[in-house]
Amino acid sequence: MSLTTALLKPGEADRLVAGHPWVYSNSIARLTGPANDGDVVQVKDHRQRFIGVGFYNSRSKIAVRILDRERTDFDAGFFRERIAAALALRRRHLPEATSFRVVNAESDFLSGLIVDKYEDVLVVQTSSLGMDKRKHLIVRVLQDLFHPTAIVERNDMASRKFEGLHESNEVLHGQVPDHFTVRLNGLTFSVPAGGGHKTGLYLDQQANYAAVATLTKGTEVLDCFSYLGGFALHCAKAGAKNVTALDQSEDAVNAAREIAKVNGVTTGLSYETANVFDWLREKTATGPSERLIPRYDVIILDPPSFTRNRAAVEGALRGYKEIHLRALKLLKTGGILATFCCSHHVDARLFEDIIVAAATDAHVLLRRTRTFSQSPDHPIIPAIPETEYLKGFAYEVVR
Ligand code: SAH
Repeated sequence: MSLTTALLKPGEADRLVAGHPWVYSNSIARLTGPANDGDVVQVKDHRQRFIGVGFYNSRSKIAVRILDRERTDFDAGFFRERIAAALALRRRHLPEATSFRVVNAESDFLSGLIVDKYEDVLVVQTSSLGMDKRKHLIVRVLQDLFHPTAIVERNDMASRKFEGLHESNEVLHGQVPDHFTVRLNGLTFSVPAGGGHKTGLYLDQQANYAAVATLTKGTEVLDCFSYLGGFALHCAKAGAKNVTALDQSEDAVNAAREIAKVNGVTTGLSYETANVFDWLREKTATGPSERLIPRYDVIILDPPSFTRNRAAVEGALRGYKEIHLRALKLLKTGGILATFCCSHHVDARLFEDIIVAAATDAHVLLRRTRTFSQSPDHPIIPAIPETEYLKGFAYEVVR
């Protein structure tokens, strides 16, 4: 059967030839025949040169998501090969991990599909119509490859509505426990099934938890935006003298306290329900002739993305600057600031500019000692800039 072709306008092919999978609707000159949403189409440049095949959706701004550079059947064999390759990459780069992101959409050449492995439970997200329509095929392949006790979908992302998809949180295979138990770097986390952020945990920080914890032995640590205590618990286990962790979500704080207990950490780690902005403002407020005494050796800042879109960047930058300024005021000389930014719209350069501006206002000089990125189960494809979003730095306060 011949495929309908999406013919590109002149000048629109280069990005795609370089490896980006998204064909925007406004870069298509015309379709050569009928195509239903979710169908496979081929993409050609304005000179009829073949570029690739992918899933079509007339309702989405991303009208075609290219999945292969050759004409391919998107059958079980295709998904098996792609998912097995993604798994092999994790085994190479995270050989010890038992919970990790198996498939990270564009990073694994499967635009529209995320699969997270929480021990023997798999959580699936399908954010494109073409992928969503093939969910049951994908589930069969996942069963064969992983023999999981359960596969659940966590399809409550806002982005689905841009594809004309509704929320859906079904059990796709097996029996789902109330909570998943997840092992990260030898620590045990418990995540409510169907609850929590992302698909349950911030797997993208797995490598950074361990890296930051090595800096904290014997120190006084403040973990801001702690969620289930990923950083805080790793630091406490690595021998931090005292860890204070802050999150505004009472549910997260309660769950984090429970997780600490399960891991046998009963002293030296305290969770507070607080708005970090208010908390830092209060702790850095000084009277007319009062001097602030810095109290922390290590401060971790891992806020949510304050920018859902480009328009929100300016406000986000003010927020980032404010928390850095106040955190730096609370850090001892020689202390360490470990700070992360998960917004794709704020790149590493801009992020560091904000930190430096905050340092200037706080009258401190920083030495950068570490750079962090997303864990290797969230691979970065430079030809697809959207695959890079998490960046972090550790700085020492020189003076
Ligand atoms: N560091 C965490 C992830 C942080 S996600 C980890 O590695 O798991 C961001 C967290 O910030 C969420 O738990 C959210 O509840 C919390 N949050 C968002 N805005 C906040 C604010 N103004 N004050 C305190 N917590 C906030």
